[in-house]
Amino acid sequence: MTEISYRLPQRRVLSTALPGPRSQELAARRKAAVAAGVGSTAPVYAADADGGVIVDVDGNSLIDLAAGIAVTNVGASHPKVVAAVRDQIERFAHTCFMVTPYEAYIQVCEELSALTPGDHEKRSVLFNSGAEAVENAIKVARLATGRTAVVAFDHAYHGRTNLTMALTAKSMPYKSHFGPFAPEVYRMPMSYPFRDGGLDGVAAAREAISRIEKQIGADSVAAIIIEPIQGEGGFIVPAAGFLPTLVEWARANGVVFIADEVQTGFARTGEWFACDHEGVVPDIITMAKGIAGGMPLSAITGRADLLDAVHAGGLGGTYGGNPVACAAALAAIEAIRDHDLPARAKHIGEVAMARFTALAQEIPAIGDVRGRGAMLALEFVRPGTTEPDAALTAAIAKRCLEQGVITLTCGTFGNVIRLLPPLVISDELLDEALTVLCTAIGDLAN
Ligand SMILES: *Cc1c(COP(=O)(O)O)cnc(C)c1O
Repeated sequence: MTEISYRLPQRRVLSTALPGPRSQELAARRKAAVAAGVGSTAPVYAADADGGVIVDVDGNSLIDLAAGIAVTNVGASHPKVVAAVRDQIERFAHTCFMVTPYEAYIQVCEELSALTPGDHEKRSVLFNSGAEAVENAIKVARLATGRTAVVAFDHAYHGRTNLTMALTAKSMPYKSHFGPFAPEVYRMPMSYPFRDGGLDGVAAAREAISRIEKQIGADSVAAIIIEPIQGEGGFIVPAAGFLPTLVEWARANGVVFIADEVQTGFARTGEWFACDHEGVVPDIITMAKGIAGGMPLSAITGRADLLDAVHAGGLGGTYGGNPVACAAALAAIEAIRDHDLPARAKHIGEVAMARFTALAQEIPAIGDVRGRGAMLALEFVRPGTTEPDAALTAAIAKRCLEQGVITLTCGTFGNVIRLLPPLVISDELLDEALTVLCTAIGDLAN
């Protein structure tokens, strides 16, 4: 195993109030040039980033508990990724795999065959974004089955393109006034132990299956798509047995089971993929975010018979599997192996969970503490109820940011703080960030 090394000092340093004067200048310029529809969590502008820190344009060094939304699992400038990108771009930045193919694309697909759950014969296709991977997984499932209906779940998030908006559950901000949406998408109840009365996973899956059979009919369903741990929807970990029961039903009914691991993949949850925790083998898996150390790349990997059913030219895209992004992915995968980042993610989860469960004993506004590995969440409620407290959640995130710790909120009800630190964050920095967060909760929740 290779030690993690850092280029930047792994320290929290606040030299100005946040946002500092240069960030404020950029915010003013942004207002006049960037469309208002693009939001940002933190109004601090990045100048440099490495390991667990982001240094802003005013010289403040912030602790990063977001990893650019689960993207920079190996850090934002891992030396292997930097070297691979540099080497590739000096040779060629693009040829288009559909015009003049190159080896790195094949190597990434070989890695994905080996890393994804199941030892069956697999094929892969590379794209640019998570939404694009999801769209293509559905295209493949529809063509291969000759069916059209797609089942998605409450609290799901699958992207912002037309089909993926249809699959996404939450209206504001993702869907409101952006319709009409793609047809033949059906939504089913999700196992959400904190809010479904602790229904066991098998029972929750049977309920969803019974609705599918009644409302759609099994033989009309092309695919079930589900995040094995939901991301934007609130880091919802379904009860044990939910996923395996759905998979078993899908298999028995010729329905393609698609696991959307765009956020959960690449060691985030303590395994290479979240499906691995319950031995779930999806027919198709979608990947993006953590795949390429920060470069834009996405992929679908699935059963060879499904992927090879598509005619030549039916799948692709100008930039899909760009050679620089492929080089970055190969380096990022090597870094995850070298540093044993699945084990790091487990360790981060253990450290944080111990503190959160202790804190939850004292703070009744913490309704639920959940997650796996380095995908961790705190759900805030009005004490003694399950009524969401989005205002408190926003106040805690704001306080953390003022103190130089970047966190994200999520959840259908906006009442979840989620942590997605780079997996290479040092123990000292993680500990300091957790202290800032726990102090903010203690101060604001009482
Ligand atoms: C982020 C995300 C997507 C969309 O990925 P983009 O790269 O933003 O298009 C899809 N599915 C899940 C589970 C995600 O977390």
